[in-house]
Amino acid sequence: MACAFVLGMAYVPAQAEDAKPAPAASAAPQYTLKDLNEQLVMATLWVQTSVEYRALCQQVYNWVKVLVDKDLAEVKTDKKRIIIVDGDETTIQANTYEAFVIDKDQEYPTGWYEWVASATGEPIPGAVEGLSYAASKGVETYYVTNRKIDKEYQGTLDNLKKFGFPNVDPEHVIYRQVGQPDDKLQRQLDLEKKYHLVVYVGDDFNDFPLGTHKKSLDERSKAFVDSKDKWGSRYLMLPNPMYGSWEKTLNNNQVGMSADEQNKIRRQYLRKWK
Ligand SMILES: [Mg+2]
Repeated sequence: MACAFVLGMAYVPAQAEDAKPAPAASAAPQYTLKDLNEQLVMATLWVQTSVEYRALCQQVYNWVKVLVDKDLAEVKTDKKRIIIVDGDETTIQANTYEAFVIDKDQEYPTGWYEWVASATGEPIPGAVEGLSYAASKGVETYYVTNRKIDKEYQGTLDNLKKFGFPNVDPEHVIYRQVGQPDDKLQRQLDLEKKYHLVVYVGDDFNDFPLGTHKKSLDERSKAFVDSKDKWGSRYLMLPNPMYGSWEKTLNNNQVGMSADEQNKIRRQYLRKWK
């Protein structure tokens, strides 16, 4: 089903002009995982080489410092002040794993747990200094990650400690428990209830407590519009063009789709000039 982006941020099916008869099965070779990984090359290169990426990240963490100072100056509270951040692509860069799957013609989770155990992910530009500044002012960081407590516990702690992130201990690094879905909402709300939240930092819409886990494009779009005033003050977003819930949403969060099916869906969402 082809889709078009229209006024009011809604996604609607395009008209039937694309509905041509399917080509004969033998007309083209199937799109392979290697082909699909080629789509990841530009996004990974941008993250690994561009100063534009570094500037966006630095901008976010410079702004964390401003928000910490602002909160301390303007808000009186007896509660502990906290920042809630995500793990991958928010504090730790996992892009060398993306380059690994491109190079090896593989896909997640092949090699992922070994990569985590290696504790080699570089910090996101500006993250250590921004969060350390917060810590120096008594504002603690909580890492709410979907990394799994049974398989990724030690490698995550080791990686964060290695680069000098603050508050790296079992209290502050909150993993996904065994059998828990990759929905962070309850963990986020539990922290908000107990402490005074200064700001959330993430690279995925689900790193923010907006209730959009596994929701559709339209629902995510509505949640964004409804939360517009909080971006830059309560919520700070980092760029991640390599993967995330944005991409899974295109597949309606289905797992196990072939590379060919995934590619077809991606193409159908392209809004084209005609
Ligand atoms: Mg992330």
